[in-house]
Amino acid sequence: MKYYSTRNTHHLVDFQEALFRGLAPDGGLFVPAETPDLSGLFEALPRETSFLDSAAATAKALFQGELNGETVKALCEKAFTFEPVLADLGDNLHLLELFHGPSCAFKDYGASFLAACMEEFLKHRNQRAVILTATSGDTGSAVARAFHRRDRIDVVILYPEGRVSPLQEKQLTTLGDNVTALEVAGSFDDCQRMVKETFLDAPLSETVPLTSANSINLGRLLPQSFYYIWAVTRLGGPAPRICVPSGNFGNLTAAVLAWTWGLKVSGFTAATNRNDVVPEYLLNGAYTPRPSVRTLSNAMDVGDPSNFERLLHIFHGSHAAMAEVIRGEMVSDDETLTVIRRLWEETGRYIDPHTAVGYLAAKWFREQDAGTPVIIASTAHPGKFLEIVEKATGRRPPLPEHLALVLDLPKHSIKIAPEGGALKDFLLHAYS
Ligand SMILES: *Cc1c(COP(=O)(O)O)cnc(C)c1O
Repeated sequence: MKYYSTRNTHHLVDFQEALFRGLAPDGGLFVPAETPDLSGLFEALPRETSFLDSAAATAKALFQGELNGETVKALCEKAFTFEPVLADLGDNLHLLELFHGPSCAFKDYGASFLAACMEEFLKHRNQRAVILTATSGDTGSAVARAFHRRDRIDVVILYPEGRVSPLQEKQLTTLGDNVTALEVAGSFDDCQRMVKETFLDAPLSETVPLTSANSINLGRLLPQSFYYIWAVTRLGGPAPRICVPSGNFGNLTAAVLAWTWGLKVSGFTAATNRNDVVPEYLLNGAYTPRPSVRTLSNAMDVGDPSNFERLLHIFHGSHAAMAEVIRGEMVSDDETLTVIRRLWEETGRYIDPHTAVGYLAAKWFREQDAGTPVIIASTAHPGKFLEIVEKATGRRPPLPEHLALVLDLPKHSIKIAPEGGALKDFLLHAYS
């Protein structure tokens, strides 16, 4: 399969090039240039197929012609040392737990696959890479963990000072070795803008072998489709709806891509917190990016989602086509806290505030549609957002042991101003 930019469909690139460029040279995002029909493959997967086998089968089909089957299988084995769990919540609602990886969030899937691919490609090219990424919390920890101590790779992570949870900050700032955390005196949008500007700075990229690892990178996006394929196969029966708590909309875009390849899905719910530019667009067709506001589900505090352009491209720029398949919902902080408490009271299950946004949107869908199964992406472990879950339930959810350990490690970060120039200076100083 080849790929092109959302802004220039004439220039085709292969997976390797899309992966190392991150953003397309014209400022657009890479998307698949073809829509392969994988419905036969999906339907042939037995319900009990393991995540690894299902992912490897999909990846082989996608990368056919560029990577041989053995290589793809080895990459999947290297990347996916953890797997999702599909939990039945009753009422035909199913929680797709994506938080069993090293950073306890769904971003582990994309980051691990990207890291495995990059290490492999760099070895063959005899090159080095500097991964530059902005994070509102979970991207950074997943990327840091995935690339930590990988050969030929340095990692620079920008995060907004005071806007990530204490645990997330520790996850970003305690690894050391090839991982550097930059603490930006600004918002996540500032971090994202700085990174975007830097990638468009051609002279800089001549000196520093920059590449991205955030959700704009195709090498992260594609593997995020794998768990939806696995979950729909696992569920069997009628085509489910997929409900995704969203910020930059990478996770939802990956689910939509799988559907374009023939995965049987009856529709999507894009659930956001008060940063609801996409639900608003789905309602009235007007896309109005604006500065993000802070909420309890802070990994989704995004005012101008970077994958919107990609999502729109998939629907050929048509609002009507997108709105037919995707419904938007906005969930407030109060509703988030209430639903975390309700679910805990009713079932003893803790969910994190991001998952809660998706869960409540799925409950609203259930009020209108009594039958369709719903798969809700559960994007983070509740223990990652202790303070909020405690505020909602009055109890502390258990923290996975490997996360508890990082809390005692010393933090190492470099403070920087929210300006592209400051980032450029740092990069030139550290890596040229
Ligand atoms: C990143 C993140 C999201 C949002 O995912 P997008 O792909 O940016 O829409 C949701 N929940 C958690 C826990 C996250 O870390």
